[in-house]
Amino acid sequence: MQTPDYQRLDRAHHLHPFTDFKALGEEGSRIIERAEGVYIHDAEGDRILDGMAGLWCVNLGYGREELVAAATEQLHRLPYYNNFFKTTHPPAVKLAEKLCALAPAHLNHVFFTGSGSEANDTVLRMVRRYWALKGKPEKQWVIGRENGYHGSTVAGMSLGGMAPMHGQGGPGVPKIAHVRQPYWFQEGRTAGQDPEAFGRECAAALEAKILELGEEAVAAFIAEPVQGAGGAIIPPASYWPAVKAVLEKYDILLVVDEVICGFGRLGEWFGSLHYGLEPDMMPIAKGLSSGYLPIGGVLVGDRVAETLIEEGGEFFHGFTYSGHPACAAVALRNLELMEAEGVVERVRDDVGPYLAERWTALADHPLVGEARSLGLIGALELVDPATGERFDSARGVGPLCRDLCFAGGLVMRSVGDTMIISPPLVISHAEIDELMEKARAALDATLARLATPTTPKQEESLP
Ligand code: PMP
Repeated sequence: MQTPDYQRLDRAHHLHPFTDFKALGEEGSRIIERAEGVYIHDAEGDRILDGMAGLWCVNLGYGREELVAAATEQLHRLPYYNNFFKTTHPPAVKLAEKLCALAPAHLNHVFFTGSGSEANDTVLRMVRRYWALKGKPEKQWVIGRENGYHGSTVAGMSLGGMAPMHGQGGPGVPKIAHVRQPYWFQEGRTAGQDPEAFGRECAAALEAKILELGEEAVAAFIAEPVQGAGGAIIPPASYWPAVKAVLEKYDILLVVDEVICGFGRLGEWFGSLHYGLEPDMMPIAKGLSSGYLPIGGVLVGDRVAETLIEEGGEFFHGFTYSGHPACAAVALRNLELMEAEGVVERVRDDVGPYLAERWTALADHPLVGEARSLGLIGALELVDPATGERFDSARGVGPLCRDLCFAGGLVMRSVGDTMIISPPLVISHAEIDELMEKARAALDATLARLATPTTPKQEESLP
């Protein structure tokens, strides 16, 4: 089959995630056929540098034979068995032990799921169950953040603060509220505020929401260490310490969604370690298996785990694929390889600083209002060179830049007019240089195109 054949069948039968089905049908999808290292290859024979590690997940890069072997061996030995009915299997047990050894010291249990969304559904059920067992069943509200992303199941969507998602499919889960995000470029800079004062103000907004709902009614706060899908938003340094203090003051659980930041993205095993957080729960997925097979989970802190174990009786929750043996075997091998190769330390001490140096230099481009990065996640804020302010979003400048970038051989995401990268953690210096050249070329091409009329708004996807 050739590209047009795939496109025809795709249009006829396949509803893609986060996609305007009709627009994509008219345009035709790009067929990705194979990949190796940090490169993907399409059916037309183009080689493209994957600046997004798939969907923030292929941390060890493509084509790792060790992960293929781990899956194959496990599929031969035991392709499936569940963890219900008082049974388990070696890969799930070993992975649980490994994860708890890597996580902050007080997180000593894990509940496995098939994805990040299922992990956040699990969080919601566990949080409310915990407080009920503590004799405080009225503690049910969970506070998330505007423009936060926690998945696409009904609970994941409700915990997240993505307005377009809330606008579809009717009401979400009750008793979930949202507070403002620590997005200085969008909300603080425009108000002329110092970033650190802005960070404290965002934490104060959380306190105000707790008081509005009543502290006796608030169960937990959920947030990503660095917001990923929202636009690679790195909070001001003042933000997390101030949030921590608020949650301690009112005895509210902290849930840190590590689905993107976990497993080395910020140069530590977990974003919580980078920011010195002590979460009660950490949803995980994506980089856990470098995306080779689907697996997620929730790491659970001692106070919640002990209550569920000692006082809970049966917890009526779980998935057919909770701790799937092949997925768990691949995840375990992935973590072992990351340790053996010093991948996390390399992000922190070598490629992270190298990327930061090269990436922030893009701030001299006339289209770039801010260039920020931390570890191997980065963002560029596109602005109108004439004013230094954001473009009218209807002009679709970010999606235009993304498409030009893809055409130039680099996957860089757009979230509105924020351009994002999150490359495989194994990226080399030479590949970072190539990424920079291609990103700059895409900015130049975007600038040139803006001088010509009509840039239709294109499809944007969130996660
Ligand atoms: N949490 C965060 C922070 C995410 O970025 C995502 C996915 N992008 C999810 C949860 C949901 O994960 P999944 O798509 O595996 O359900």
